[in-house]
Amino acid sequence: MSKSLQAIRGMNDCLPEQTYRWQYVESVLREVVGQYGYQEIRTPIVESTELFKRSIGEVTDIVEKEMYTFADRNSDSLTLRPEGTASCVRAGIQHGLLYNQQQRLWYMGPMFRHERPQKGRYRQFHQFGVETFGIDGPDIDAEIIIMTARLWKKFGIADQVKLQLNSLGETQAREDFKQALVVYLTQHKDKLDEDSTRRLSSNPLRILDSKNADVQALLNDAPVLSDYLDEEATKHFNGLCERLSAAGIEYELNPRLVRGLDYYNKTVFEWVTDSLGAQGTVCAGGRYDGLVAQLGAKPTPAVGFAMGIERLVLLLEVLESFEKSASQAYVYVSALGDDCIDYAIEVAEYLRDKLKDKPILMHCGGGNFKKQLKRADKAGADFAVILGETEKDKGSVVLKPLRGQADQVEIQLGELINELEKFS
Ligand code: ATP
Ligand code: MG
Repeated sequence: MSKSLQAIRGMNDCLPEQTYRWQYVESVLREVVGQYGYQEIRTPIVESTELFKRSIGEVTDIVEKEMYTFADRNSDSLTLRPEGTASCVRAGIQHGLLYNQQQRLWYMGPMFRHERPQKGRYRQFHQFGVETFGIDGPDIDAEIIIMTARLWKKFGIADQVKLQLNSLGETQAREDFKQALVVYLTQHKDKLDEDSTRRLSSNPLRILDSKNADVQALLNDAPVLSDYLDEEATKHFNGLCERLSAAGIEYELNPRLVRGLDYYNKTVFEWVTDSLGAQGTVCAGGRYDGLVAQLGAKPTPAVGFAMGIERLVLLLEVLESFEKSASQAYVYVSALGDDCIDYAIEVAEYLRDKLKDKPILMHCGGGNFKKQLKRADKAGADFAVILGETEKDKGSVVLKPLRGQADQVEIQLGELINELEKFS
């Protein structure tokens, strides 16, 4: 195939052998958030560029270098959404869902970031996320973390992921801390890489998030944000820690945990794993009380998280925790000759009426008996139902067990379900 007809680098197809795994993961996610009374929100994949600039922040990896931004035919600047929170807040404001209300929302879908593709990092990837509005916590912070813990249990990966927690405090604390951090890092400027040097003046907090090992080593002796928290933020954070402990959720305090986006305050958390190499953050979230006001509406407290579905699927694959996919067919309906195709369709529809949760595959495209049986086998069918002129005239079917369960029998169509049930 010519190169121009390949998928875009970092954007993956999900083939049938893989989709059943995604469907399983998605169904568990839906089921668990449903148990907590969260409701789904769907927003467009494209938004105005301004939305992301104003919410995520100008001096962030995403806005600086990762967004898919283009001018549409009216010359409006549009962007493929790089994350879901900004769109949720935009929709909440636009439709009056936020003011004086409580909302518990979830979303799932593709996000787009122009990053260097590698295992666990793609240009189109998928996030499952939760956003709550109108509750200032820390009970709701605890709720969403407890909910993720339930998810890990359900997926059987509870012992593979660890919870890291931090508090970013409020604006004043971050300002005071920032100053102290800049003083410290300026003294060691020679050890900073290019990115961190630039951030020293533009967004020093983000240096804490640096993936450079030398920078991380330097940060070992840097001032810590927790020393700067005000009383209210400390109380909030302690409240969260107490609730998590009471619920039996283990956590690790990570004073250097900041998020890649500007809008967080107070609680930040990540669920990380050692099983995926460098791309170890499976789920990340926190509180963003200032964002709604920042986008022009009445202040509304908010807290949420997003998890990378690719990373979750990868983790489950590493642990070999997926079951084999169900076979494509339970019964394969085979018609011998054009004259009995109508009868075969009737039999297939009859089976679908009666066996609602079992796939019935109808042979299409003709061919001799041997060829049809081969297809039946390839589809993983347990049974073939074979129909010819004689069967059509008698209203009967030939049931042929394909997995050595028994010999084939000819029976009336009305007895077929009973006969099949003998094997289940
Ligand atoms: P990282 O530090 O790995 O770049 P981030 O801080 O940019 O992560 P968030 O914006 O918080 O990530 O997104 C939440 C989650 O979405 C991440 O923890 C991860 O699981 C997933 N995620 C983020 N970017 C990608 C990507 N390019 N490919 C696959 N998954 C991703
Ligand atoms: Mg990133």
